[in-house]
Amino acid sequence: MIDMHDIVKKFYIGQPNELTILKGLDIQVREGEFVSVVGASGSGKSTLMNIIGVLDRPSEGSYVLDGVDIATIADDELSEIRNSKIGFVFQTFNLIPRTSALRNVELPMLYAGVPMGERTRRAKQLLAMVEMDDRMDHMPNELSGGQKQRVAIARAMANDPSIILADEPTGALDTATGRLVMDLFHTLHRDQGKTIVLITHNPELAQETERIITLSDGEIIGNRAGAEVCI
Ligand code: ADP
Ligand code: MG
Repeated sequence: MIDMHDIVKKFYIGQPNELTILKGLDIQVREGEFVSVVGASGSGKSTLMNIIGVLDRPSEGSYVLDGVDIATIADDELSEIRNSKIGFVFQTFNLIPRTSALRNVELPMLYAGVPMGERTRRAKQLLAMVEMDDRMDHMPNELSGGQKQRVAIARAMANDPSIILADEPTGALDTATGRLVMDLFHTLHRDQGKTIVLITHNPELAQETERIITLSDGEIIGNRAGAEVCI
């Protein structure tokens, strides 16, 4: 599903300075795998996630996502690939304010050209899956953190993505609420075969995934199985 070789990411911070943030990463994730990425703050996790999610391109290296060679495709095709293949979940939820939970979940389908009736039907189904169907007319500011994240997960699933990318999805939640969100990822993995890349600061949550990739200062220093086998 994800096949990266020698990925380098540099940021230019004004001539002649440049920062090399990712220093030649090789990452392979197979279809249906649940992988976590751990590492200290500033180690490059979010930069990597932006590249995996084709929000950003690598400076060097090759990346094939679900059979698509990202290096050779045009910019305008990138957003289409992103919208159809990837579901994003962020620490800060990133719901659209002053827009109901239902409309938030419908939005990626609107961009994908799904007809209105079908959008609403599927959005309601997804909100039921995350047990938020009784809150579908609520605005984001009328929801708790855990509820916002459940809506965000429903939204991430809107276009039935091949991959779910979650950048510290439990980082802003208390332990019990984080647990519920983590259980939701396990369900999507187990029951729907989703490929999931989870960035987390929480070593216990990482242990629950099938494989743990450890980043340090833009390099992979660990790549090992998690402690618990997920069925
Ligand atoms: P993490 O998610 O692991 O905390 P990030 O990927 O956000 O780390 O950042 C890694 C490093 O890259 C940090 O030192 C950060 O300051 C730097 N960085 C991230 N984005 C940019 C950017 N757009 N321009 C310059 N430096 C950046
Ligand atoms: Mg980060």
